[in-house]
Amino acid sequence: MELLSVLEHIDQEAKVIQGEDVKVFKPWMPKRVVFTADAIEQPYGQRIFERVTRLGLQPEVLKNNRITGLRGETERETYKIAKNTLAIVNAPKGAFNLRPIPPSADWQFHLAEGCPAHCQYCYLAGSLQGPPAIRVFANLPEILENTVKFERLNQITSYEASCYTDPLSLEHLTGGLQETIEFFGNRPMSHLRFVTKFDAVDSLIGLQHNGRTRFRCSLNADAVARRLEGGTPKIDARIKALRKMALPKLQGGGGYPIGVVLAPIMPIPDWETAYGNLFDKLQQQLNFDCDLTFELITHRFTPGSKDVLLEWYPNTSLDLEESTRSTKRNKFGGVKYVYVKEMMLGLKAYFEQQIGKRFPQARILYWT
Ligand code: SF4
Repeated sequence: MELLSVLEHIDQEAKVIQGEDVKVFKPWMPKRVVFTADAIEQPYGQRIFERVTRLGLQPEVLKNNRITGLRGETERETYKIAKNTLAIVNAPKGAFNLRPIPPSADWQFHLAEGCPAHCQYCYLAGSLQGPPAIRVFANLPEILENTVKFERLNQITSYEASCYTDPLSLEHLTGGLQETIEFFGNRPMSHLRFVTKFDAVDSLIGLQHNGRTRFRCSLNADAVARRLEGGTPKIDARIKALRKMALPKLQGGGGYPIGVVLAPIMPIPDWETAYGNLFDKLQQQLNFDCDLTFELITHRFTPGSKDVLLEWYPNTSLDLEESTRSTKRNKFGGVKYVYVKEMMLGLKAYFEQQIGKRFPQARILYWT
């Protein structure tokens, strides 16, 4: 989305689109934007500075690289302060040593850490340290160049860019996805993947991605999204964005390969009807040939993520009851709580059958 249209989009908050009962989603605008001394020296840092200034924000520039003022008196207050803060920093050295991310991709790398949304089951809880401020990496060009070193010989290498953030949620402020998609567009043997719950895709439509970026949309039953996914666009709006990204360029779309990440799948009351309605909507909107994948992820939590989520969302209605779950251990001995086997089998059979019937051309990449 060009800056002008971002501004128009923001002005239209809560405006009802002609004849449709769809509220325009207001892109996130941080209360505080802060650049570290190192970050403002980076050309990409300066581009972000110009963007946010043009959007009417008043960034601070620090004389050093230490961001303070993120803590409140309680954890809840810290959460509020941090979630309203956009910090532009340089990624630390460790970020250049890429880690694998099975089953999603060969490698993960990060444009940013943190996210402005408020999902009560957030995957970041317990994985990122400190207050959940949104940190964007100003040394992005170096981060991108570094991914080249991890390319496998004579085979396509895949890179996941949304492990620690929702990159589209920040795009109007940073332009980082655009730079990343174009970078991978010039790399014949590397594929980019990212997933989002956001819908402002206009700035990505005309890019030269050369089919090397898969745009994935995180979807859920309406009842789950309404109850647990604060600060995100509605499911209908996300599906429209997915359609737009997948439509051929000649029809005004982005012509991207696309994916649906159904997560976290939850056996809510009457779940078959709830997820059936979601499949109905998807089928209506994806009524043309497209390169489509599905990733199916059931809800799970760890003791650590439960503690953090209960600090962030003390009144949550999310089911975090250990006694009704099975435990799964990873190779380091860490525990995860997942649904019991019978439930898992029932859910898996349902989702595989629905996808097979409704989207026979699509691939299911994994179930977990
Ligand atoms: Fe967390 Fe993803 Fe929701 Fe952001 S969109 S709050 S990263 S679950």
